Amino acid sequence: MRQNNLTSSKDSDLKLDIDSIVISEAEIQERIKELGKRISFDYQGKNPLFIGVLKGVLFFLADLLRCVTIPLEVDFLAVSSYSAEARNKGVVRLVKDLDIPIDGRHVVFVEDVVDTGLTLNYILQNLKMRQPASIKVCTLFDKRKHRLITLPLEYVGFELPDRFVVGYGLDFREKYRNLPFIGLLKSSVLTRETSPE
Ligand code: 5GP
Repeated sequence: MRQNNLTSSKDSDLKLDIDSIVISEAEIQERIKELGKRISFDYQGKNPLFIGVLKGVLFFLADLLRCVTIPLEVDFLAVSSYSAEARNKGVVRLVKDLDIPIDGRHVVFVEDVVDTGLTLNYILQNLKMRQPASIKVCTLFDKRKHRLITLPLEYVGFELPDRFVVGYGLDFREKYRNLPFIGLLKSSVLTRETSPE
């Protein structure tokens, strides 16, 4: 982990909220190239359909697909939680369904981070009922410590420590998704954002 020494006013406000960088932009991009190469090899002649859940996966999916060298298609789902209780069970409401039918298709389901695995499990069960030819998961980040359901993850970028991180699609109250690296927020930011006005 590298300490953030950014203090200059020329640096963006977002970066100034970061305590330390956990995975650098260069490390992320290098790993994505490797994943793209593997997927291109594994899915030769299969015209895979890549599916992502908005919004966190946007950054990873865009970079990954530019590293895949075979023909492919892409589609998105959007989900929202019903309630805290439902969220704890991984039950989500589909607010945007796929545009492309997936029956008989080779699906690569792309995730930003798998934590408990509950959300992913729920979505995969939904997709499997639509009878794709195959479905495999590609996640950039894997947080194994909190896993409640064992799920086969075919392609994994990095294992993440058991800490709340932001950047590269991962947000804190909708902020920080556009940071090109993965970092830890300063505790003063977390306190500032959670204390009443
Ligand atoms: P789970 O696997 O627990 O059902 O849910 C995974 C979701 O939790 C991810 O899609 C992401 O939205 C959120 N998540 C898990 N860990 C982190 C983290 O460290 N930072 C952020 N920003 N979101 C996280």
